[in-house]
Amino acid sequence: MFKKVAFIGAGAIAESMITGILARHILEPQQIWLTNRSNKQRLETLRDCFEVSVSEQTEHVIQNADLIILSVKPKDISEVLFSIKDKLQENQVILSVLAGVSTDYISEQLALANPVIRAMPNTSAAIGLSATAIAAGRHATPDHLQQVSHLLRAIGTTVSVQENALHAITGLSGSGPAYIYYLVEAMEEAASHINLDTRVAKDLILQTLIGAAEMLRSSSETPRLLRRKITSPGGTTQAGISVLEDYHFQEGLIAAIQAATKRSEELG
Ligand code: NAD
Repeated sequence: MFKKVAFIGAGAIAESMITGILARHILEPQQIWLTNRSNKQRLETLRDCFEVSVSEQTEHVIQNADLIILSVKPKDISEVLFSIKDKLQENQVILSVLAGVSTDYISEQLALANPVIRAMPNTSAAIGLSATAIAAGRHATPDHLQQVSHLLRAIGTTVSVQENALHAITGLSGSGPAYIYYLVEAMEEAASHINLDTRVAKDLILQTLIGAAEMLRSSSETPRLLRRKITSPGGTTQAGISVLEDYHFQEGLIAAIQAATKRSEELG
């Protein structure tokens, strides 16, 4: 297992990962180091909250780290890679959680033989329920992948994939929570049109979502069969589903996921 883990970029995803890693005792606070750009206050807040080590000097943070996690926005990655390339030690594993940035790009910018692994989590990482896909890049062995996967299980489930699947995964599960929030927005809006109390409606929608998710998880039946079983001909659900069909609801969602996938390809 990793002895020292360094995060470059102390934003939302770094905080989620640290929360999960410490909650599940995968690492002790003194094994985690963190740096950020021009936001000393943020570093101090995270240090006080998690008792991890922080420094404004990237060089200091990555020194002797056996895993370096790149958790900056894609627009900042070239600057980060340029700043660390002369300071990396052999065998330091690089894990990138950046959307759209390939492991080849990282390896080429570094011009080094360090193992590079890429992960695509989603925002449910903040509560330990991310659906995370990971892919091995150059020089990464199954052992490296297994160690990183163990670490990432701190923020949810993990699945290993070929890197070329990551654009589609970004479109499907990376952006996925937003599609569900969008659906809930519409259900809340509908509740106001049918004169339901907002607070009562919110509770009912939430529990409906949790119940349906749990049915999908625990049942051996397909989503289509689960739906058909509660859609009696001439009944209320049938009346609602017919309108969703008229509005091409499924086609809209398919097109949305395809568009998000294409956007990820364009960013990469
Ligand atoms: P964020 O903006 O909250 O955090 C990025 C941090 O990087 C900032 O605090 C910034 O100060 C720091 N930074 C920028 N340049 C730096 C540099 N040169 N050296 C050190 N630190 C630097 O962003 P985030 O939401 O944490 O996302 C980070 C990455 O994670 C993105 O590339 C995003 O695609 C990916 N990601 C995030 C999520 C998520 O749930 N938030 C999910 C999937 C992927």
